[in-house]
Amino acid sequence: MKRDTYQDASEIGANKAAPPDTSSDVRLGMLATSLKQAVLDHLYYSVGRFPAVAGPTDYYRALALAIRDRMQHRWINTTQTYFDLNPKIACYLSAEFLMGPHLGNNLVNLHLGQEARNALADLGYDLDTILACEIEPGLGNGGLGRLAACYLDSLATLRYLAIGYGIRYEFGIFEQELRDGWQSEITDKWLRQGNPWEIAKPHIFYYVNWGGRTEYYQDERGCQRVRWIPYRVVKGVAYDTPIQGYGVNNCNTLRLWSAEAVESFDFQAFNVGDYYQAVNEKLVSETVTKVLYPNDEPAAGKRLRLAQQYFFVTCSLQDMLHLLDLAYIPVESFAERFAIQLNDTHPSIGVAELMRLLVDERRLDWDAAWAITVASFGYTNHTLLPEALETWPLPMFAELLPRHLEIIYEINRRFLDEVRSHFPGDEARVARMSLIGEEGGKRVRMAHLAVVGSHAVNGVAALHTKLLEASILKDFHELWPERFSNKTNGVTPRRFLALSNPGLRELLDRTLGHEWLTEPDRLRKLDAHSDDDAFQRDWRAVKFGNKQRLASYIHARTGIEINPAWLFDIQVKRIHEYKRQHLNVLHIVTMYRRLKENPALTIPPRAFIFGGKAAPGYLMAKRIIKLINAVAETINADPNVNRRMKVAFIPNFNVKNAHLIYPAADLSEQISTAGKEASGTGNMKFMLNGALTIGTLDGANVEIREEAGADNFFLFGLTADEAESIKRAGYRPRDYMAGNDELRAVLELIGTGHFSRGDAEVFRPLVDNLIHDDPFLVLADYAAYIACQEQVNSAWQDAQNWMRMSILNTARSGKFSSDRAITEYCEEIWNIRPVTIKN
Ligand SMILES: *Cc1c(COP(=O)(O)O)cnc(C)c1O
Repeated sequence: MKRDTYQDASEIGANKAAPPDTSSDVRLGMLATSLKQAVLDHLYYSVGRFPAVAGPTDYYRALALAIRDRMQHRWINTTQTYFDLNPKIACYLSAEFLMGPHLGNNLVNLHLGQEARNALADLGYDLDTILACEIEPGLGNGGLGRLAACYLDSLATLRYLAIGYGIRYEFGIFEQELRDGWQSEITDKWLRQGNPWEIAKPHIFYYVNWGGRTEYYQDERGCQRVRWIPYRVVKGVAYDTPIQGYGVNNCNTLRLWSAEAVESFDFQAFNVGDYYQAVNEKLVSETVTKVLYPNDEPAAGKRLRLAQQYFFVTCSLQDMLHLLDLAYIPVESFAERFAIQLNDTHPSIGVAELMRLLVDERRLDWDAAWAITVASFGYTNHTLLPEALETWPLPMFAELLPRHLEIIYEINRRFLDEVRSHFPGDEARVARMSLIGEEGGKRVRMAHLAVVGSHAVNGVAALHTKLLEASILKDFHELWPERFSNKTNGVTPRRFLALSNPGLRELLDRTLGHEWLTEPDRLRKLDAHSDDDAFQRDWRAVKFGNKQRLASYIHARTGIEINPAWLFDIQVKRIHEYKRQHLNVLHIVTMYRRLKENPALTIPPRAFIFGGKAAPGYLMAKRIIKLINAVAETINADPNVNRRMKVAFIPNFNVKNAHLIYPAADLSEQISTAGKEASGTGNMKFMLNGALTIGTLDGANVEIREEAGADNFFLFGLTADEAESIKRAGYRPRDYMAGNDELRAVLELIGTGHFSRGDAEVFRPLVDNLIHDDPFLVLADYAAYIACQEQVNSAWQDAQNWMRMSILNTARSGKFSSDRAITEYCEEIWNIRPVTIKN
């Protein structure tokens, strides 16, 4: 679609920007004295306050703006190189970016932490108080959105040119509150204090069509063409956030699109006097980016969700084409200039949209357009759960995106011809692979569209990729084995160690030098210190400090007091039956019963700590939260057991409180049913911070155990193959209960209302589900889990050996840096090279 976004390239710096005035200390000075001046300056001129009346949030905003100034010339210099489109740019398309607070991370990446601390101390403030004022942009549900954020950090740090494209939701993931132990959801008004990190770019916008019909016509050269006559048009406006790399000048862009009404549309109604209709149009247009869908794994299947996906994808693709035009690069070179990665199927409508833009608007012929499309896209799969695979009912799809449905039919026709020529006579295979599913009404299969339209398809852990190739994408793997590869997830050590565990950072810097932060394989040198008494003492002191910090946070939030000397056993992640928080609860209740029956029992005291949100419509997950809180209430109040165990549920798990949680863990709970967790990244954050894992052979746990060494990992449970064959043979959870008196007693205690003041109704559905159905094999893994927890207890009693294992876990966590993962994407999928940006 023709648009007049940038009047000319100079508006966003395509021509040479003036060099920064280095005498301008208030904007650029990197020492505490100039930072202090900059904060006072922004307090007065940008925030509109002065010290006598300003509070910590005012200082937060002033400091954030001062830090953004210090990234500005790096950002503009990096943006200028985008315009050369040489080398190519990675475009990471994701419906979610769970960025976490920006200020602390930017201070780490700019090496400004100490100077900022000194500047604020001079102004009478503690930096940590100021950091706590930031409201995090919760524009994601969990692991998938957080992965996108870690990848942006690594891309900038490794000096790759990259743009993250997504949606600027007005309301992000809901805030969780607990009322009587049940979750309740509060709207996340994250923009209520403004957002000092983003810069609105009202001149960068694209039009987005919805609905209507298509029309066939002959162009001036006599070619058959198609035009889309939409029912509605909205505008997508860019909001940019700088993504500063660590220790480099590269500063990439996160570009999030926000929906606005198109003025010309409401003016029509306004002119005929229908003011309310005009305002209504505006409301309808702007709902598209109102709110993030809070479902983590299962696909929502809502019309507005499809609208959100198309909205951000078309804006992003139009933006790429526009960058080409500005550089006078012919559209035929698109794939040499852009590598587009689809973070799950959420942006996979991009395959059909790029075809539409190239064929209908740029008038390329189909084959040329298809070659460009396939060469540009890569697709990352994140799930094996069949209920999480996105499909759209055909009528809904046709109504919203009529032209795309035609394009998908044509892609499918050509694709199925290819399948037939490879596998003649195999019509069952053709039906399985079609982009249109027939079961239960016709539906568009977005994962199939993503695979067919991409030159590279990857899973997110070795086991996950293997299962992908053998199960849901088996047919595609047989057709195109060369497209498939594994890219095990990673996490950024800047945020999840340097920023959130300053004590450990300092110890590592002192012991290894500071290079480990970008070359985490250097952490291996810790192996040599793992038996050293003095080093172990320092290690233990750091961990203890982190546990004190978390204990006081938990006390402030929940009133629950936890002794930091106890074993901290932590499970934080979205609440999901496949993640099996209820298996953890069965262990807690088992220990509770043992203590009640035998008060003389000696077990090392433990704090069982949970956190995580449940999708608002996922009633079983909400019941699991209630169960955790009910068990916590009973145990914490019982003087016979609460000297040896406590249970706490931290409300509203998010990136900000994750900073306090991961570094405080002794034991990391990664207990999903084998074959269900694609990778996990929480498991990596715990390992990096020296926690030992108790876990199944699922997702990246397999690789974590390989790296850490089997002796430094508590393994239990069925393998993915065993789980699969138990289910196939007709799993009967009752048999496991009948064969285990302790398990039966535990389920009975829960079911009869012991933890719910005699209410035998609340947990009945949960217990009944375990006894009669148990889709995630909780009962089948129970005995092995309990036995493994006993090994944890004996290991904890040898404090020196525990410290040794803890050190070895951090030492061997280098593989799980997102720098390693991003290097693999760049070299093996995107084919892009780093660029040095001058200061
Ligand atoms: C890392 C992270 C996750 C993902 O955790 P998993 O244990 O891999 O499911 C979810 N939410 C937040 C806030 C995180 O930081």
